[in-house]
Amino acid sequence: MDYAASTFAKIPKSALQKLSICSNTNLRRCLGLIRSTPTHVIYHMAAEMPTSYRIEMATAKEIIKCIAYNLPMKKIIITDKLSKNTSYYKIYQKYKLIFYNIATINTKKQSLRKIVTDDNFFKNTAKNKECNKNIINTILKEKIHLLESQQFELIFTDGSIKDNIMGAAFIHEKSNTTKSFYSNKKVASMTAELIAIQKAVEFAIIQNFKKIAILTDSLSSIFAIKNEESNNHIVQEIIEIINASNLDKIEIHYIPAHKNINQNEKADEAAKNANQNGERIRIPWTIKDAIKEIENKIRKEWETEYKGKITNKGKDYGQIYPEIIKKPWFQKKNTKLESRDIKVINRILSNHTFCKDTLNKMNIYDDNSCETCNTIENTNHILFHCNKYANIRSKYPLLQNHTTLIDIQKKYGDKMYNTITSFLKQCKLEL
Ligand SMILES: [Zn+2]
Repeated sequence: MDYAASTFAKIPKSALQKLSICSNTNLRRCLGLIRSTPTHVIYHMAAEMPTSYRIEMATAKEIIKCIAYNLPMKKIIITDKLSKNTSYYKIYQKYKLIFYNIATINTKKQSLRKIVTDDNFFKNTAKNKECNKNIINTILKEKIHLLESQQFELIFTDGSIKDNIMGAAFIHEKSNTTKSFYSNKKVASMTAELIAIQKAVEFAIIQNFKKIAILTDSLSSIFAIKNEESNNHIVQEIIEIINASNLDKIEIHYIPAHKNINQNEKADEAAKNANQNGERIRIPWTIKDAIKEIENKIRKEWETEYKGKITNKGKDYGQIYPEIIKKPWFQKKNTKLESRDIKVINRILSNHTFCKDTLNKMNIYDDNSCETCNTIENTNHILFHCNKYANIRSKYPLLQNHTTLIDIQKKYGDKMYNTITSFLKQCKLEL
């Protein structure tokens, strides 16, 4: 659905509507929803953003890559030479502050010859839940002893993300040095960990160390440094400054977090408090963090739209789901329903089912009342009240003892969907 989407951010409303209808219809069919379901409910249920937001996101991603990789388009974009009628112009203006501040990626391959990484040392011990903290500390002591006997300077690093503030710190015990840094930017935790490593390397170079061992609890940082294709500018800078320095060798070792490793706890503490007693630094966006930042902004816009709309259409659904979600309910691990049943539940949740009330509103049926009970036949009536199914319902206390879907959803969450589908099957009803 996102094909060529980056050129669509400025298309006329009528064209956008055509695209949206196509996307709405497909999504509605996938979810098994019926035609009368409000659009915002469809997108919410699929945990997707509506077309106009997806187009914005695709455009933003392309601009971010243009800038980061220094593509020919970058010059046109940042010198404001874009035609005002373009998709790029609209999105560039909207998120200018972020685009201004994206780090450039070096496409030249860099040599990792001075760097050795070790993510394996604690693998078997740290993953074992039985393994107690004393054992880990004993192993670490041996490791430290070995590194020191080989004349390595040991530096512990850690990063933290708290209330949208990035903190990074390193500790060199031998010189009694603890340094911390912070930035008021919302970034991934790996960014904070990498900044800590970068600062540790810079410190080692100033101290004229020849061999250093960095001990970090961030496996993802180690993998990012090992990855020759990395498009993370912090990784690139770390490797660049190492290669240009007098450092002979740098080893980066993984140590497990939260295992009472004294120096790791201290680095953690320093990173967490960096905004109180550390140095404020300015960091440009990595590609990933910039994408995430814009995605969060776009998601917020969608959330505002959704919250406004459910006060009007899809009120019942809105009571179950007042906020936007990251994953559809049926993608959760413990869902064991078949796709047919998932579709039934989707219709029930949307409150647009094949009951007479909905069909009547769609002008398919001219009557909306239940033949047995002579009241309006809606979803709640069938599930909780209809006399026709009273006998079968008596075997389902969950349905017997409640009066609305919102009621049981609030109490039992997704767990009661099995009950509903099994009840409907016994009643030979397709809702
Ligand atoms: Zn009835």
